[in-house]
Amino acid sequence: MIDLLIKNAKTIDGKRIEIAVQSGKIHEVGATMTYDAADVSEELDLGGDSYISAGWIDGHVHCFEKMDLYYDYPDKVGIDSGVTTVIDAGTTGAENVGEFHDLAKAAKTNVFALLNISKWGIVEQDELADLSKIQRDLIEEALAKYGDFIIGFKARMSKTVIGDNGIIPLEMAKDIQAQHFKELPLMVHIGSAPPVLEETLSLLTAGDIVTHCFNGKDNGILDRSRGQIKAFAWEHYRRGLVFDIGHGTASFDFDVTETAFSEGMKAHMISTDIYSRNRLDGPVFNFPTTLAKLHVVGYSWSEIIEKVTLVPAEVFKLEGKGQLVAGYDADVTIFDRVESTQTLVDSQGNERQANEWLQPVKAIVGGKQYDINL
Ligand code: ZN
Ligand code: ZN
Repeated sequence: MIDLLIKNAKTIDGKRIEIAVQSGKIHEVGATMTYDAADVSEELDLGGDSYISAGWIDGHVHCFEKMDLYYDYPDKVGIDSGVTTVIDAGTTGAENVGEFHDLAKAAKTNVFALLNISKWGIVEQDELADLSKIQRDLIEEALAKYGDFIIGFKARMSKTVIGDNGIIPLEMAKDIQAQHFKELPLMVHIGSAPPVLEETLSLLTAGDIVTHCFNGKDNGILDRSRGQIKAFAWEHYRRGLVFDIGHGTASFDFDVTETAFSEGMKAHMISTDIYSRNRLDGPVFNFPTTLAKLHVVGYSWSEIIEKVTLVPAEVFKLEGKGQLVAGYDADVTIFDRVESTQTLVDSQGNERQANEWLQPVKAIVGGKQYDINL
């Protein structure tokens, strides 16, 4: 028995696609599919108008509601924007990830967490100013207990976070990762110095994630006096560090993104760094707004879709996610391409005009359908 048959859909490249869903998994994918009506519980006919892709994945959000600084609710930053999977980027550490895990399980959206190397996560802005908060044994315990939920580590390496510790917290994070959890990626937040960016990047290994990659700060990848990307940034990009947008309140700059694009450097992954304040007041607002910003810079819609499905699933080793293939989880985003002119604003206040938009209309998580009114 087929639980759901999605008919007459298109991929972002305009190819016709149909999907049969059974017991929360993708049962079959094809250009057209014929089932006996008696074998199909529900049919969803998109009439050739709407697009579908694997469920969108936002690789950098903050959605543990019990925090004061950066907090939100998984479904507000997930399903409500057509995002079927969110990855919370280090809001919690070993001491509070359990409470977050229990709350997150109740969400409609799939939630995973990057464990902050500081044991209480971002309870205060300078979580890495006190090195005694980085405790290997607590991290091991948390991983042993919540190994399905924790899919990597997070370290915020910028001036306001590290106190007088310079690069030391990152050295400790790399040490813990190297000795015990080589398969888990480390996401590093970059911002104002210290530490200087070149030193931060040089400690990372291929597969680690640099979030806020196109921020507009002096300690970023752009050499403003020459109007080009710094040579060392190119070097680390080429040796396999994963560049992630992580838009956030203060970390996405059109000029930097456009200069990088003109030199052939694109972000591998597109994420929002969304939480209640930058969702309600901007400049993030929601996931599709961030996608529209990359489209304005010049990214094609099909590469944008890849950077929010296939790529994050590979980077975070999310089994059964990121592609529409038989046997994978039935996580699907259904959306329209809408033409309308809107002004987009980055974190520095720079404006661009968008003429096209992806408007999510429905999300399916593990075979369950949710209507979206964004
Ligand atoms: Zn950050
Ligand atoms: Zn963040």
